[in-house]
Amino acid sequence: MISSIDLNKIFVQTLKDDLWINKSIVVDVLRIDELHPVISGNKWFKLKYYLKDALDKGFGTIVTFGGAYSNHIAATAFACKEAGLKSVGIIRGEESKNLSHTLSQARLDGMQLIFVSRNDFKNEKNIKTRLFNPDWYWINTGGYGLNGARGAAEIFNWIDDSHTHIICATGTGTMMAGLIKAAKNHQTIIGINSMKNIELIDDIKSLLCDEDLQKNFVLLNDYHFGGFAKHPVELINFMKDVWQQYQLPTDIVYTSKLIYGAFDLIEKNYFLENSKLMIIHSGGLQGNLSLPLNSLPF
Ligand SMILES: *Cc1c(COP(=O)(O)O)cnc(C)c1O
Repeated sequence: MISSIDLNKIFVQTLKDDLWINKSIVVDVLRIDELHPVISGNKWFKLKYYLKDALDKGFGTIVTFGGAYSNHIAATAFACKEAGLKSVGIIRGEESKNLSHTLSQARLDGMQLIFVSRNDFKNEKNIKTRLFNPDWYWINTGGYGLNGARGAAEIFNWIDDSHTHIICATGTGTMMAGLIKAAKNHQTIIGINSMKNIELIDDIKSLLCDEDLQKNFVLLNDYHFGGFAKHPVELINFMKDVWQQYQLPTDIVYTSKLIYGAFDLIEKNYFLENSKLMIIHSGGLQGNLSLPLNSLPF
């Protein structure tokens, strides 16, 4: 469906550091960020079954929601262009004179942008009614939903039974739900919440069946650094350190907080000896382009 997607680009990077080697813990990072420069990381996995469904049912246009820096908007625009679908982005907030990098790129990729006030944006149902068009296939904000989780479950193809803990960032929680679905009973899925939204766990649970609800999973809410997309200087400095020590690039919204949380848990002896972690590098690096030039060394 999308020729520029090459799953062989995904690889596992093992991080070496005395902090965990001394505790006999292995830290692997699954580099799905490498999959594609625009349809980065988990966004492809979350989108694929929606796009397939839309094509199977004969829809010509994909419509979805997002903010000015949304990786989901960027990925949807590009994926639709390649799949031969039209795309519409319902964008939170008024149009500003200087479009964000994300939105200018989405527009270049053919996405029609419709700006909606922050207040109106909260009511997706109203928007859908107001903009009704029989050719439009709607995808929830961030790809939230069962088709998204089904695609995200395929990330588990790169994780084996020896991994005891799978750690991922959460926005809508769709990827985490998919990972829980694919996990074995001896494995634990840990979500690092990038938002100050503790109700997220209910959104995740509502994508799970009874059997999946019995599995081991936990959402940790203490690593948001002030809230969604907030990136205080401590976080930027941490990102520079991670790059220097492990040549691992991270983004300001999700994966920097994810890696920070994982390291913090190791330091606090959250994991037993002989644990083997798989941290999902879910992508999102395009979001760093909204920082002032040269803020980061990668
Ligand atoms: C969108 C995104 C997430 C969040 O995924 P959800 O399925 O919405 O929880 C995590 N990491 C990155 C890099 C993302 O772009």
